[in-house]
Amino acid sequence: MSDHFAEGTLVGVLTTQPIDRVLDYKAPEGGCWLGAYVEVPLGPRKVIGVVWGPGKGDYDLSKIRSVIRVLDAPPMREEMREFLTKASEYTLTPMSSMLRLGLRAPGLGDPPSMRHVYRRGAVDPDRMTDARKRVLDTLADYGSLAFTLKELAEASDVTSSVVKGLVKLGAVVEEASPRDLPFPHLDPERPGKALSEDQSHALEALRGGIAEQDYGTTLLKGVTGSGKTEVYLEAVAEVLRQGRQALVLLPEIALTSEFLDRVEARFGARPAEWHSGITMTERRRTWKMVGQGAAQLVVGARSALFLPYRNLGLIVVDEEHDTSYKQEDGVLYNARDMAVLRASLVGAQVILASATPSLESWTNAEAGKYQRVTLNARFGASQMPEMRPIDMRSEKLESGRWISPTLRKAVEARIEAGEQSLLFINRRGYAPITLCRACGNQIGCDHCDARMVEHRFLKRLMCHQCGETKPMPTVCPSCGAEDRLSAVGPGVERLAEEAVALFPDARVAVLSSDLYGSARALKAQIEAIAAGEADIVIGTQLVAKGHNFPLLTLVGVIDADLGLQGSDLRAAERTFQLMRQVAGRAGRAEKPGVALLQTHQPEHPVMRAIVSGDEEAFWAAEAQEREAAGVPPFGRMAGIVLSSPNVQEVFDIAGDMARNAAPLMHIGAELYGPAPAPIARIRGRHRVRLLVKARKGAPIQRALAAWVGQFKFPNTLRVAIDIDPQSFY
Ligand code: ADP
Ligand code: ZN
Repeated sequence: MSDHFAEGTLVGVLTTQPIDRVLDYKAPEGGCWLGAYVEVPLGPRKVIGVVWGPGKGDYDLSKIRSVIRVLDAPPMREEMREFLTKASEYTLTPMSSMLRLGLRAPGLGDPPSMRHVYRRGAVDPDRMTDARKRVLDTLADYGSLAFTLKELAEASDVTSSVVKGLVKLGAVVEEASPRDLPFPHLDPERPGKALSEDQSHALEALRGGIAEQDYGTTLLKGVTGSGKTEVYLEAVAEVLRQGRQALVLLPEIALTSEFLDRVEARFGARPAEWHSGITMTERRRTWKMVGQGAAQLVVGARSALFLPYRNLGLIVVDEEHDTSYKQEDGVLYNARDMAVLRASLVGAQVILASATPSLESWTNAEAGKYQRVTLNARFGASQMPEMRPIDMRSEKLESGRWISPTLRKAVEARIEAGEQSLLFINRRGYAPITLCRACGNQIGCDHCDARMVEHRFLKRLMCHQCGETKPMPTVCPSCGAEDRLSAVGPGVERLAEEAVALFPDARVAVLSSDLYGSARALKAQIEAIAAGEADIVIGTQLVAKGHNFPLLTLVGVIDADLGLQGSDLRAAERTFQLMRQVAGRAGRAEKPGVALLQTHQPEHPVMRAIVSGDEEAFWAAEAQEREAAGVPPFGRMAGIVLSSPNVQEVFDIAGDMARNAAPLMHIGAELYGPAPAPIARIRGRHRVRLLVKARKGAPIQRALAAWVGQFKFPNTLRVAIDIDPQSFY
């Protein structure tokens, strides 16, 4: 079959519209290629699509319309079409939604032209207003990115006349720029750092696969600070030397300018970026340049996997265990698994880097499916901190207090030595529960089956499920009693209050994502802490990732048991990973660190494994338990959540589905539920969950599709199918 369709022949076009069919059109003047990005009429509208194959011709020929035009972009490659198809089959997502992921760049149909972009000028405005300051801050935050007038005004929340005023003053400069400039050349021959012996061995192992230009996955394991980034940047260099492209995936929160600076230091220029913080203009530029091969390296969040690479040779998934790689909204995919799929289709290498790999990856390495490369030591003198449990059953603590006497002494010793301590608690806000002492009512969200969390800093209650907030009431909304509401349990703000009271002379800094208005303010705070401007850092999960605090020598985990409760099958794994990561913050420079874990269950196997640092023992025990239970990665699971504003409807339909599950029974799967989902109501929708469990290797997707396909659902009902669910809410 030729890949070219002559003018007037029928072609099948897949569009991003939710019609789950490839539609027939006539090829336009000049014909079109298989994979071409095209604009087609659909009803009264024009939409973008991709030529997916020859037309079916099963539709009234006289009614078939012509493709309007072919867009100025190389046709989608066969491997990309295959990737979208396979990903769609795996995640049971309609092809139209998959294609939308692959077309997340606005204005692809626009012709190339000149436009104006705005940059920071050399002059400061004589008079600074709030609005002007916001514009200059935006430019300082994202200085390497190009803004159009509209984008700059919107990002700074000002009118475009404010920007124009700054242009007149010379504080902002307007430049004519061709659209979609290629990215600057990255030079792999610039000298990198001299690698340690351990690191050189790791790189050698990676080079083997890269040289073959074939598929392979390597688990690159090493504690934080062991030089994983250093090693994989050399692997990137190797791929660039071959003239192929590389992609580095990071959890969104780790996509810092610190990382981009590091890439620039190594290769002499900044890479292309792809994440929620870039402008629409940059989005379009990256999409186009990746397709033309004019972006050698992309650093991005998970959806960067769906860019149209021309010649992809390597995908790095840094912090591969991070739960944020699992998309929990819309298309439910795990970027780590999709990276492996994509690489296997294009003959690329994958590096999964982590200090605390997921059990999935650990098991694949054990089974020999992945190569395993380990960096044993931290680079330089620093060591993994010593870890010790604090047995909370024998500590004397007043109610409403969370810092044990033992931890308190350790912090005092650090303050005296001029070193920093981190107190870690994985809970935002002041207190997780607001209780009425008169009637026992706990204030909940009006729309969700969740408690409202007090945020004293904002003087509001907030639902962490839907984001709804309301002012902190003074009377109980349930019984009307006055001044009887009290905070129960610790949050990061409350812990800070306690620390200030306990250590009145210490400088206390709080790091929690919701306390900072902008990424810039947060970054400034992190830099100040790193420079030693705090004695005690109180932090949430935010601090577990990537930041380097050289003066930090003590980590105190306030509630190490938190993650062990609950029914999540990955609870133990998560607690293990989080505790090790947090502990890894201590002692990064020359000074050795110590991590103290407050726990009520020091004899719990997970706690013992964390404290002893015996990772292999932990993984082996955890693997054994999951294998015995037949759960992932030793069995397959899928979660089906039905939701509707009507509680009766959702239970009726779920019951009907459970009674008619023959396709699941054919593959020997087990069906659990229906049961109210752990969060039984979100944003006013009642949620019911069914859980499917099958043995490893069972064709679970096919069975699910056949099963769900039997039913006709009312419009009010939503069905979300989650293959390999990560969270169970
Ligand atoms: P990881 O990614 O495992 O956390 P990094 O690659 O970030 O580790 O290395 C930790 C720190 O040590 C970084 O500041 C890095 O620049 C430095 N480092 C690692 N390896 C070397 C090396 N071979 N030469 C010089 N500095 C190194
Ligand atoms: Zn809510």
